[in-house]
Amino acid sequence: MARISLKNVKKSYGKTNVIKGVDIEIEDGEFCVFVGPSGCGKSTLLRMIAGLEDISSGELRIGDRVVNDLPPAQRGVAMVFQSYAIFPHMTVRENVAFGLTIAGASKEEKEAKVAEAARILQMEHLLDRRPSQLSGGQRQRVAIGRAIVRKPQVFLFDEPLSNLDAALRMDMRMEIGRLHQQLGASMIYVTHDQVEAMTLADKIVVLKDGAVMQIGAPMDLYHNPANLFVAGFLGAPSMNFIKVKVEGVQGDKVLVSNAALESVAVSARRGPFKPGDTAILGLRPQYVEIAQGAGRLHGKVALTERLGSETVLDVTLKDASPLIAALSQDVIFEVGMPVDLTFDPDKAHLFQEDATMASASAH
Ligand code: ADP
Repeated sequence: MARISLKNVKKSYGKTNVIKGVDIEIEDGEFCVFVGPSGCGKSTLLRMIAGLEDISSGELRIGDRVVNDLPPAQRGVAMVFQSYAIFPHMTVRENVAFGLTIAGASKEEKEAKVAEAARILQMEHLLDRRPSQLSGGQRQRVAIGRAIVRKPQVFLFDEPLSNLDAALRMDMRMEIGRLHQQLGASMIYVTHDQVEAMTLADKIVVLKDGAVMQIGAPMDLYHNPANLFVAGFLGAPSMNFIKVKVEGVQGDKVLVSNAALESVAVSARRGPFKPGDTAILGLRPQYVEIAQGAGRLHGKVALTERLGSETVLDVTLKDASPLIAALSQDVIFEVGMPVDLTFDPDKAHLFQEDATMASASAH
């Protein structure tokens, strides 16, 4: 187990800056998830920690050592790849023991460690099979087993579930969560899937274009996103963004409205805002409800998706902007019918228009 610290870490390929000065602290035993859209630099960052990519500048520490120039084998890390990287001609037992064989471990040591890993991953019955006789999930378990036997200080996972189908992904996600609880080791996990990030992480690092957008516990990020990008990236369906006009500011409240929105006072904490400004009102679909009285938002039903336990209502607001409401009951709406909606202003977010928005809803 070890603490991992990145200080102003950068990576360039020629003139292209791929990682633009990143500061991240990962505590001993913490499960840290790097999340962001494809191309944001998360795999590069993980590979730099693993020692598979050089660090252009900055400092990387694992435990109490600066490891910038240390080869991968001496960093105390073990990486699990998306592609599993297991050998088809070897049995599961031989694959799991591979790192130990290379390191010259004795037969007894290998047997004991493989048996322990197999017990943890519940794959004792698979040890004599070859990879071709395994399912995708079982192959991924072999790859994890190979990491476990090395007793690394830090586990690194690079999109380990991407090749699995949806149901298996959920099972393996839970298994990795259990593994973390059981081993208590520091883990860094890369994914573009915000659900994996939300469910697995103690700490999430949201990345965009090689820069950190926000770091925090999943629920902190969900309830207090620092910018439009984080707000739009975490949570499903994505947060609704509605362009509004600032009518007035009073203390820590801002009064906003638009053609579809009655004047409403919301928190000004991401300000400053001044009258006349254009701002972005963020509403999570789960917090939008059908109004019993007059309502705060007005529009027309564009589409209804009945999922049984909830109904996803796609509304076109009077100002022409789209809005999704995730209603926690089964309701029937006809397409085109007028609808009045409401929300708790304390659960609304107000953002200044900013440059992070462009790809916020791109996932
Ligand atoms: P992610 O894992 O978030 O999808 P990557 O870390 O794979 O992103 O890539 C980040 C960026 O670095 C991308 O824009 C990619 O094109 C670029 N990149 C990765 N490897 C190289 C390389 N060897 N040479 C040049 N650019 C690279």
